[in-house]
Amino acid sequence: MNILIPPREGRAVRVLKGQIMRIATPKGAQAADYFAFNAESPAEWLSANHTWVTTFNVKPREGDIFISRFRRPMVKFLCDGAEGVHDMMIAACDQFRYEYFGHKGPHASCSENLCVAMRREGYQIDVIPQPVNFFTKTTVEADGTFISPPNPVKPGAFVELEALLDLICVVSSCPFDLKAEGWAINAGDGPTELEVVVT
Ligand SMILES: [Zn+2]
Repeated sequence: MNILIPPREGRAVRVLKGQIMRIATPKGAQAADYFAFNAESPAEWLSANHTWVTTFNVKPREGDIFISRFRRPMVKFLCDGAEGVHDMMIAACDQFRYEYFGHKGPHASCSENLCVAMRREGYQIDVIPQPVNFFTKTTVEADGTFISPPNPVKPGAFVELEALLDLICVVSSCPFDLKAEGWAINAGDGPTELEVVVT
């Protein structure tokens, strides 16, 4: 199954246990917010914060197992084709974040993309889980200072993820396009598409 996620939009994809989802940024430097829910019980979702405890790292790394908020294995990070440039600390963007940075009026967001994608699967999402943000550059300094430098991810960079349960996964092409000081999440020319392949 091949899915092209247009810039600023999100899609839900059903991934069966044992299947592999490949997410790529064809033009590079496009943050991909990734959420995963147990297909049989969407109240169980992939939790980045719970995963830190078992991987001893705030970044997702090749070979890591992402666990749910009920601490069950959900996803294995099989292959990292983006040189480790990922984040799982920044909350999904939402309307409030754009307003905080001075945007007037409605703005597309990863939170809204998640809600719309899950509604199309028949589920209302009331809590936005902490996503894994693939292709997002963040660093934590020794004193705890949090930095998001310009995004260095190359065109064609990708990740491959194995489902350890039957899942509903949501991938959002992060619509962040504001020139906010210190938050160059995406490349300068605005959001671009993402490619998803499930095999
Ligand atoms: Zn976003």
